[in-house]
Amino acid sequence: MSGIRPVVVAANWKMHKTGPEVEPYFAAFRRLYRGRGGERVVVFPPFPLLEAAVRAAGDAAEIGAQNCHWEPSGPFTGEVAVSMLAAAGVRLVLVGHSERRQLFGETDEDCARKLRAVLVGGLSPLLCVGETIEERDAGRQRAVVIRQLTRALDDLPDEGAERLLIAYEPVWAIGTGRTASPEDAQAMHAAIRESLTTVLGARRAGRVPILYGGSVKPENAAELLGRPDIDGALVGGASLSPEAFASIAAAAPDRQGRA
Ligand code: PEP
Repeated sequence: MSGIRPVVVAANWKMHKTGPEVEPYFAAFRRLYRGRGGERVVVFPPFPLLEAAVRAAGDAAEIGAQNCHWEPSGPFTGEVAVSMLAAAGVRLVLVGHSERRQLFGETDEDCARKLRAVLVGGLSPLLCVGETIEERDAGRQRAVVIRQLTRALDDLPDEGAERLLIAYEPVWAIGTGRTASPEDAQAMHAAIRESLTTVLGARRAGRVPILYGGSVKPENAAELLGRPDIDGALVGGASLSPEAFASIAAAAPDRQGRA
């Protein structure tokens, strides 16, 4: 596989924390984690905390949003446009997190629209894919993940495709304390990269970081992140503690990008 891709360690705060917690979190994270270059650290706070997080993170982390709407503006009460996120200093947007798909009915088509809007708006989409336990038990995990991936990448604009990131997050591993085995996760990441190669070509596919998510914690991070196609982690619960998140970031073995 050609190309260099960075290691990416990302924190998904979900619907946790309030304004006064933002500055102390980043102050602690900065104290505990000194980047060594080559890696990307990203934090996804809830919408009202984004601007404070951009200020508090400084150069210690990029800030991402957990969701967006695909239209540039209009009568969409309660929604947030990509341009608003960009103006707030946001650099990335989560697309298709399983909680959005399962609890809020987001479809593959919605994900494709959002992904396109994020790229056209100049930001980086972190597309989440992953199977449920029923789909895994039925042996359909690969088919499900590849369907989510290819449908979301349908009509991908040429412009900005190099900004794409993917997270493989088996739904049964999110917030449950269960993780995919490093072997199973590696196999799925390799399948995702193979499929990306068909869509994007080998050179561009080789540059897309594929993160693993699902109960990553300091104790299992090094083993997961040591696999060749696991380019980082998307961390939910454990990322709420700056100590735990810093320790996961420090477990990323390769700081200079992977070939
Ligand atoms: C997530 O929210 O994307 C996630 C992986 O959560 P957790 O680490 O808590 O399983």
